[in-house]
Amino acid sequence: MKVGFIGLGIMGKPMSRNLLKAGHELLVYDVVAAHVEDLVKAGAGAGASSSDVAARAAVTITMLPDGPDVEAAVLGPDGVLEGAKPGAILVDMSSISPLVSQKVAAACARRGVEFLDAPVSGGEPKAIDGTLAIMAGGKQEIFDQVLPLFQVMGSSAVLTGPVGAGNVAKLANQIMVACNIAAMGEALLLAAKAGLDPEVVFNAVKGGLAGSTVLNAKAPMVLARNFAPGFRIRLHQKDLRNALLAAESMKLALPLTSLVQQMLMALMNHGRGDLDHSAIVTFLEDMAKTEIRKGATGGQAAD
Ligand code: NAD
Repeated sequence: MKVGFIGLGIMGKPMSRNLLKAGHELLVYDVVAAHVEDLVKAGAGAGASSSDVAARAAVTITMLPDGPDVEAAVLGPDGVLEGAKPGAILVDMSSISPLVSQKVAAACARRGVEFLDAPVSGGEPKAIDGTLAIMAGGKQEIFDQVLPLFQVMGSSAVLTGPVGAGNVAKLANQIMVACNIAAMGEALLLAAKAGLDPEVVFNAVKGGLAGSTVLNAKAPMVLARNFAPGFRIRLHQKDLRNALLAAESMKLALPLTSLVQQMLMALMNHGRGDLDHSAIVTFLEDMAKTEIRKGATGGQAAD
């Protein structure tokens, strides 16, 4: 299948590499030329713009930071809809507001272009392994056509409902991940302040009810003080903001989400927006004057 791929960042690069490895003819575009060059070296063709990629591909995938980026790349000048032919398929795999997915889908429909929103969970390691969890929204017949591509990039792909439903599922996922990391931070700080080695506590609890994929992935990073992204603080702040906006439109209160979103905002103001989201714990550490690290116990006493 001739596939276009727009957005070759932390996620888009390994996902597009996997499509190449699976034998798909791939055309790529990114506003950063160096990202395109990396994929061209791996065997992809270079598109001159999003419009150029979409004009030459049966299916175009976008993997961009947020809704405004998707709107720019799809609806803007030299965007996907300037090039895509009627009958072509656009699959937006970015994590964006479900309301923006619906707006983009409506613009696609006016041009006879099919649309799926299909955000992912699993982060860079699962993007590299081709084992992402993909949650899609759109028509069943379009999902079925794109499923072979999803099977290359992910280990599960679920159609969760009409357009926008994929991003609702993703926002639900992001609430659970962010609150889980914050809870882990408070729990391991309690252990450290009480004089225990947080690594020992992690090993003691990970097989019990508190054990989780998030704990297994993020606790070792915190203990090693490795906050290289991964998934950036600023992107998780964006996801929780989108969750709160969607909740507000339904008059739904999400108090825990709101609290963690404010912590993420504060971390961005402290120059930590490009750290991995495991660095949510540093907000709590600053308040405790204590770090969660291997073997280190206790901390500076409060005044
Ligand atoms: P990233 O910032 O590393 O990559 C985004 C890429 O898009 C960059 O290469 C950028 O140059 C390019 N870009 C931006 N605007 C563009 C435009 N108008 N046209 C063409 N290219 C453009 O981000 P990422 O970590 O790869 O995340 C991408 C999406 O996937 C986000 O919505 C994020 O929330 C989601 N996501 C990320 C992870 C993760 O762990 N990194 C996990 C799951 C989902």
